[in-house]
This record gives sequence, structure tokens and C-alpha cells, in this order.
Amino acid sequence: MHAKKDKLSLFLFIDAFGWEVAQRHPGFLEGLIQDSKPLETILGYSSACDPSIISGLTPAEHRLWSSFYYDPEGSPFKWTRPLRFLPNAVLQRGRVRNRMNKWIKGKCGFTGYFQLYSVPFEHLPLFNYAEQKRIWEPGGLPRGKTIFDLLAEKSIPYHVHDSDVADDIRFERLMADIQNQRIDFAYCSFGRLDALMHAVGNDHPDIGKLMHWYDGKLRALLEAAEENYHEVSWHVFTDHGMHNIAEGYDLISDIEALGLEWNKDYIAFYDSTMARIWFLDEKARAPILEALTNHPKGRILPDKELKELGVYFEDHQYGDLVFLMNSGIQMVPSFMGAKACKGMHGYHPSDADSHASISSNRPIPPDISRINQIHGLMLTELGLTKNVDAL
Ligand SMILES: [Zn+2]
Repeated sequence: MHAKKDKLSLFLFIDAFGWEVAQRHPGFLEGLIQDSKPLETILGYSSACDPSIISGLTPAEHRLWSSFYYDPEGSPFKWTRPLRFLPNAVLQRGRVRNRMNKWIKGKCGFTGYFQLYSVPFEHLPLFNYAEQKRIWEPGGLPRGKTIFDLLAEKSIPYHVHDSDVADDIRFERLMADIQNQRIDFAYCSFGRLDALMHAVGNDHPDIGKLMHWYDGKLRALLEAAEENYHEVSWHVFTDHGMHNIAEGYDLISDIEALGLEWNKDYIAFYDSTMARIWFLDEKARAPILEALTNHPKGRILPDKELKELGVYFEDHQYGDLVFLMNSGIQMVPSFMGAKACKGMHGYHPSDADSHASISSNRPIPPDISRINQIHGLMLTELGLTKNVDAL
């Protein structure tokens, strides 16, 4: 038996393991958890939540919110213009789309998470893409620092997941780093639960099986950590929960029925739960406002509310107007997908099903209430103070 290393801090992220989902699986890490609580999420998708967790900042501060935004001059996709002549039936096929995705990501020089989803090719040159760099390494944010900048500055040896490999490989690699005592800190994200719940909803028997699998993997990991380190602190957490989808709704048709001209009067990006609209001609504003005010399937988010949620952008980078679908209603089709899912997130953070969660073998301070404050917990574990992280 080799000598133990001093201390290990583990931050283990299970995508979409929200508070409501966690309550349905009380056996998960039972006996090991000392404290757990719900956390408020950030309006948006992982593209908004992940950078907030690792920086402590809101999207308005670090500038990453949704994936695509209107920026015809700065668009890295201008060269894709000829692709609009390819037949849509071919482009929407899964395998073709996957290859195109890799090819476009490479040609644009993106290192971050990139998904074309179902963005129509003819519209791509109108948009820019927010998460161009890999956020899981130093220098990943457009503005502000992440925990990875600080780890690098302080030369603290750490482990971070590789987004391109499956969860079981991520466990294996983290396990190897723990057994070899190569690290003092780890941030490891796991994605299978999110993918499963998008496909089957938030309350399917397969979720119990998957949580059992995670339980086993995590127990083995924590046991190895105890064997190799004198002191082990761990947090298991997530960025958001999951809603069951009750219905799909075609909001694009509502906008198109107004008879306004695309790319002359307005531009819109249709995320699966949000429509973000830019007015190119002032005459488009009144009819669009009228169509979306008192809409039965969702509502316009006023600036005051966007500010409170930390997603108000003074320059309207992500849209002049943000329309959020009512919970459980998915925009179908959208630029994120042509078909309805069984589960979706990206609804209002005040819903119970939106809530994130955190569990630990340590008491969780009462002032930790929103996911971006997990960053403060990481600093505390590393013995760093908050003012190190000034913008
Ligand atoms: Zn998801």
C-alpha cells in the first residue's frame, strides 16, 4: 500500500440530475451524502449553465447564453453558402448531419461544443456561434475567468473530462488519475442521464437503472479516493432538471403567417423552448409583438425579468425580443430539432422541474442557492478567495 496524498476535491457533474429527479431516486449515494439541496438554474441550456458554474458569473457577465446569434458580418459560416443548394432531405439525415457537423466545426476552427442541430443551412451565414472555444480549459470564456484559469495560474494538478468520450471512459480516466495520485482537484461531467431523459422523459424505469449504474461507479471512485488521499471532499451536482413534454407547438408558422420578410424585416432563432427575434426593420416590431403578446403557448420575457435572471444583454446580442414557451410545451419544429422529445429543459427557472441539485459529504453553506455559486464552493475547496475571481 503506497503512501496517501494530502487532499482531493471532486466536483462531479451529472447532466440534468435535477432536484425533482433526485427525489425519485433516494437510494443514490445513500449513506454517503451528508447534505443536499435544490439550486436555482440559469435560464437557457447547458451553453448558458456550464460556463456559469465554472466561472461564478451570469451569462450577461461571461457573454455565453444560447449557441447561435445574429451576426452576418462576423459569421464564421459565410463559406457554407453553397451548401444551401444541397437537398434538405439529404442534409437532415442523421449520419450526413453528423459528418457535416464535424467538418464545419473543423473548418471554422472551433474547439468548443458544437452542434448544428437543425439550423437550416441557408440561414447559417446569418449567425455567429457563441461557444467557439473549449470552455473546460484556461482562456475558454469570452469574458471572465473560470476555475480552470485559476487552477492553471496556481499550478494545481487537476483532472477535467473529455467531452468527446462516453461516460464509462470518463470514469475510467478519472479513476486512473485518482489511483495514481496525479491530481488534487477534478471536475468531471457525465452526460448519459440528460440524453436518456430527452428520449424517455423524466420518470421512466430506465432512469432508475442508469442511476444505479452511476451509484456504483461513483461509490467505486469515492472508495479509491479514500484509499489514496487523507482527506476527500466531493460534490455531486447538476445544471438543470428535466420537464416532460406534454405537447409540441409550431411557433415558426405563427411568425411566418405575419407575412414579414425574413432577413429584411426580421431574423429569428428558434431554440427548442425560446424564440429570439431581431428586428431589422422597425415595421416588424408591432406585428410580432402583437402575435406574441397574450400568446396561449408562451410569453415575452420583459427586460426587468431578463435582468433578474442574469440574461439581459444591453447590445441585444442574443435577440431584441425573447419569447419563452410555457413549461412542457416544446417548439416543434425548431432550429434545434425537427421532432418532439419526451423530455426537455430550458424552461423558466422558477419551475420545480427546472431546479438543479447538489449533494456533498460536506455541509453546503446556506447562501449557496444558484448554480453559478458552485464556483464559490470550488474556490473554498482550493483555499482561494472570491476576490481572486474579479472580472
Ligand atoms: Zn439536455
